[in-house]
Amino acid sequence: MLKPVNSFENAKRQLDLVVPLLLNDYQDKKRLNRAIRLLKKPQNILKKKLNLKLDNGKKRSYQSFRIQYNDARGPFKGGIRFHQNVTEDEIKALSFWMSIKCAVVNIPYGGSKGGIIVDPTKLNLRELERLTKQYANFLTPYIGPWRDIPAPDVNTNGQVMAWMLEIFEKRKRHHSPATFTGKPIELGGSEGREEATGRGGVYILQAYLKSKKINHKKIKLAIQGFGNVGYWFAKFAFNADFKIVAISDVSGGVINTAGLNIDELKKLHAKFGCLKEVSSMTNYKFIENKDLLELPVDLLVPAALENAITKENINKIKAKFILEMANGPTTSDADEILKSNKIDLIPDVLANSGGVTVSYFEWIQNLHGYKWTKERVNNELKETITKAFGDIQEVVLEKKITYREATFYLAVKRIIDAMILRGRV
Ligand code: GLU
Repeated sequence: MLKPVNSFENAKRQLDLVVPLLLNDYQDKKRLNRAIRLLKKPQNILKKKLNLKLDNGKKRSYQSFRIQYNDARGPFKGGIRFHQNVTEDEIKALSFWMSIKCAVVNIPYGGSKGGIIVDPTKLNLRELERLTKQYANFLTPYIGPWRDIPAPDVNTNGQVMAWMLEIFEKRKRHHSPATFTGKPIELGGSEGREEATGRGGVYILQAYLKSKKINHKKIKLAIQGFGNVGYWFAKFAFNADFKIVAISDVSGGVINTAGLNIDELKKLHAKFGCLKEVSSMTNYKFIENKDLLELPVDLLVPAALENAITKENINKIKAKFILEMANGPTTSDADEILKSNKIDLIPDVLANSGGVTVSYFEWIQNLHGYKWTKERVNNELKETITKAFGDIQEVVLEKKITYREATFYLAVKRIIDAMILRGRV
């Protein structure tokens, strides 16, 4: 039996990797080491058991978390996930990655993450609302537009944010839309936020291909994930004429070497509920998730959960480069192998930063009581994320290191500089 990968250990190893690169930037090595030590621990860990009475009268309790990792660069920022496999260490890793992600795109936030250990598919909408509202009640003293700003993540959405907003505002007795991002448009959400992570991923992909002078029409893609991130990434890639040969959700996926029509698949997915069902009801060919990762494609896009690419399957992966749209899909041992095989990997904290970037635009709009057009949101997203890619590309070329190393180097340096300025170290 394989030992499950601990995402937080993985995250700390990613941090250690950039320490040698930072040595030249700080004269006071002891100070640097103190900063790194601080960065290996979250600032605040908030936990609470939530009790829920189901509609059938049975009582259940669910463990919930909010981990505020680092706020040297600005208020804590990060999503909330509802999933049966959530663990404290997973949330720690995800909150660390949020701190890195916000520094990568240079937006004035720190990082945090929240979660509840719950399979939301087992609850009905009323039960889900009651559970979410209890969680919001617990979080109220610890969040706010200048303190910690939650957003959606796996299995949460605008509706979940709306329930949380309601509780927070009731308890504070004033409106405060800038406390949450990813809200429904009707409650102060931003145009373009829902699809921003996918859209941003395509901008990063285009910037990467341009830098390598690769014609996008010549590459084949396989995408793992058909949730908010996977679907929108696929949709924008399809609109931009990329050839997607396989895509999957939790049930498995479909494959067509001539290219899939994402619009048609979306309709079939809505009709049949999952891609396995789509394949059994139509003539789409089925593919297991495991096999999708090992297809002979040019680009592999993991867009589901952590630890999809590990030491166990890395040698079977045939893609020429990888774009991480999920958070933490590649373990650090797999990363080392990719590095020695000279396979480029564009890391999560850059590739999927479009979501939090548009969250930042939503927060600005809410603070100003003003609405941007979709066109403005998309233009500013493209500008911000393409600039972030350019900054990292410069470091990659100058230091001859991987994209992950360059991204972490730049972000960790920005965070440490803020910690030093504040006199925290
Ligand atoms: N959950 C998203 C992420 O992992 C978005 C976070 C946010 O907008 O705060 O990047």
